[in-house]
Amino acid sequence: MPATTPQQRVYNFSAGPAVLPVPVLEQVRDEMLCLPGVGASILEISHRGAAFTQIIESAEANLRKLLDISDDYAVLFIQGGSRLQFSMVPMNFIGEHGANPGKSGDYLITGSWGKQALEEAVKVGPCRAVYNSKATNFDRLPAPFCAGEATPQYSDDAAFVHYTCNETIQGVQFPGEPETGGIPLVCDASSDFLHRKLDVSKYGLIYACAQKNAGPAGVTIVIVKKDLVASASDSLPVYCNYNTHIEANSLNNTPPTFAIYVVQLVTQWLLDTYGSLDAVHKNNAQKAKLLYDLLDESPDFYQGHAQPECRSLMNVAFRLPSEDLTAAFLSGGKQHGLTDLKGHRSVGGIRASIYNAMPIAGVETLRDYMVDFRNQHAG
Ligand SMILES: *Cc1c(COP(=O)(O)O)cnc(C)c1O
Repeated sequence: MPATTPQQRVYNFSAGPAVLPVPVLEQVRDEMLCLPGVGASILEISHRGAAFTQIIESAEANLRKLLDISDDYAVLFIQGGSRLQFSMVPMNFIGEHGANPGKSGDYLITGSWGKQALEEAVKVGPCRAVYNSKATNFDRLPAPFCAGEATPQYSDDAAFVHYTCNETIQGVQFPGEPETGGIPLVCDASSDFLHRKLDVSKYGLIYACAQKNAGPAGVTIVIVKKDLVASASDSLPVYCNYNTHIEANSLNNTPPTFAIYVVQLVTQWLLDTYGSLDAVHKNNAQKAKLLYDLLDESPDFYQGHAQPECRSLMNVAFRLPSEDLTAAFLSGGKQHGLTDLKGHRSVGGIRASIYNAMPIAGVETLRDYMVDFRNQHAG
């Protein structure tokens, strides 16, 4: 028998694409031959027909409800992943055809993704790092979040400040927004989008690929304050101009219909199960605490990567005392149905990604396994 029941599922701690809620997967399965009232599957219908129009409008409405997004902002569904946003942001804000040609972009570099975002941005215009925690292997944040760290000094001509609110690889997360003195804030929220309520009005633009915490691979959600990009020029490549997607309601070309459908289901699941992102956040904080308390209890055995002030609620990265123990931990975990726990090679060790859809029972099972493993192997 193929594994078709929730009972046969492992606890999958993959960083992305990542765990999805079982009720969402069940609904996808149930509707795979026929969307209710449509007589065909989501994979087979026009993106301009009534059924899909209702799905994309509902996905947007759910996001607006969860995040309380005002009409000053567009909610877009774009392809190309977060990596395309690494380029689209500077193209639209500061590039020669952007809204503020010749101005610059300031970047807070707190991990691997922010570093790559800046590497792309400098191809478009004058962008620079105003904070960089590379020297400590990206384990911390600027002041005031981490005491004793530098306070970023922004450029006089900065048209935006870019930061990565959750660095997926290092497990370093901003507990709140950096203060920019009125410079529009651009956020790569790929790996913690919808894990808590955000005050969207503090942002110029937020982007998040769906495959970490909001759906499957194939779609990136962009929330953009329309007036900031309105004056970008038609000389930009059509797909790379935010105004194209704003004017066409994300239907300029064929959008990733299946991925948007699943985002609609995930956001509906959040609303139906939790009602609000504050409740989602509370649940996430409770899950993360189970693991971080154990790290704090056993600092000689489990060494957390992030400084305590900036520990991620989504990606818990830690090391064991040796490579041999790490390998034993991973293979023993698999036997307990705990998979995809290997850390990224740049950090090593273990990374447990515990996104919204990871049930607390999965985190408890991991915690119990970690306690047993420590008791068995600690010197
Ligand atoms: C996964 C990830 C990306 C890259 O997303 P793609 O959709 O693969 O381009 C960018 N930023 C962060 C923070 C991520 O976690």
